[in-house]
Amino acid sequence: MRIAMISEHASPLAALGGEDAGGQNTHVAELSAALAALGHDVRVHTRRDSAALPAEVRAASGVTVVHVPAGPAEALAKDELLPHMGAFARWSARQWLDGGWSPDVVHAHFWMSGIAALEAARHVDAPVVQTFHALGSVKRRHQGAQDTSPACRVGAERALCRTVDRIVAQCSDEVAELIRLGAPRSRITVVPSGVNQCTFGPGGPAVPRTRGLRRVLTVGRLVPRKGFEEVVRAMRLVPGAECVIVGGPPADDLASEPYARHLLDLAAALGVADRVRLVGAVQAADMPAWYRSADVVVAAPWYEPFGLTPLEAMACGVPVVASAVGGLTDTVVDGCTGDLVPARDPRRLGAAIRGLLDDGMRRLAYSAAALDRARRCYTWPRGAERLEALYREVQPAASEVLAG
Ligand code: UDP
Repeated sequence: MRIAMISEHASPLAALGGEDAGGQNTHVAELSAALAALGHDVRVHTRRDSAALPAEVRAASGVTVVHVPAGPAEALAKDELLPHMGAFARWSARQWLDGGWSPDVVHAHFWMSGIAALEAARHVDAPVVQTFHALGSVKRRHQGAQDTSPACRVGAERALCRTVDRIVAQCSDEVAELIRLGAPRSRITVVPSGVNQCTFGPGGPAVPRTRGLRRVLTVGRLVPRKGFEEVVRAMRLVPGAECVIVGGPPADDLASEPYARHLLDLAAALGVADRVRLVGAVQAADMPAWYRSADVVVAAPWYEPFGLTPLEAMACGVPVVASAVGGLTDTVVDGCTGDLVPARDPRRLGAAIRGLLDDGMRRLAYSAAALDRARRCYTWPRGAERLEALYREVQPAASEVLAG
């Protein structure tokens, strides 16, 4: 099949850890590569956000990344991209009509991509599959006035739920949200993200440890909803351990990043500054070595549509303490591969981390179970096969057979 992925802000080629570059980038890169490995012809359309980018890049995975000129060729916050989705759609449709390559299916990632995909796909009669990655209704609930998404986001997501041919949910919690938004249950299929088992595994180098301290690692885009503040607060209850925070801007720019400074000031005020360390953005290829260096990986988000970092830790055989929210309630099996605690509760979080650090036998048992679960349930080839079947189901011929 010819598969067009639309990922307006999240390029599979981007460096990760910044405010708008994280799980969606990894997801689109890995899923596209796994589909290409099954023999499909995959092209990812993403916005050209730098004048230095070539029109197209053929990645080692065999996937072609197309840089779509829509809006200025410079980095823009994702919340500023909506006005450029019309140009994105028109340019993509033109390419498909004139460029000798037209998709059998268009798979959109994130709500704005969905808007562009529907408009572009209509010109070539291709079905549209939508993965939201995150939902505006959930963001609004948790972030309230801090939510900088365009005001029309929730309405647009509601409309997409009723219009696209199929919605891919990443976890059971998302299914319930989608149904609340008006998505017909029959059009929702759950296909979780995977983890690259060749990259993330227990064998291989580990980042050196700090002498005399156990290591609690937490990873993500440096934004409040990832719960880094809660982890710093929890460290008061975890003596003899350091907290390493991976993510954010490159290390050299951390000092000028307001949220990074806030976390360090908080650590100082709480008397744990000597045990809290921010390392800034880490290249994707170096992430396994960081996970392997940890005794426990903590993921303490307020909410989480899927959450790749705990899964990556599990694939490296590291036990996880996570908030009991969203996708984490599917991936982390409480009391088996890790511990789940209520979100935004540093006391419970600290108690759980300390309990696990003090219990070597339980860590060993969690580690084995986590590795096993990641390998059995969350591989990209398996996810790609399920999506391949789904793409076939939404082909016009297949839909007619089903309807007839
Ligand atoms: N990541 C990375 N370097 C960093 C920080 C994060 O490569 O400095 C990667 C991390 O390994 C994971 C992704 O970014 O693959 C974050 O995904 P997650 O689903 O946890 O969060 P999201 O960004 O989707 O909110």
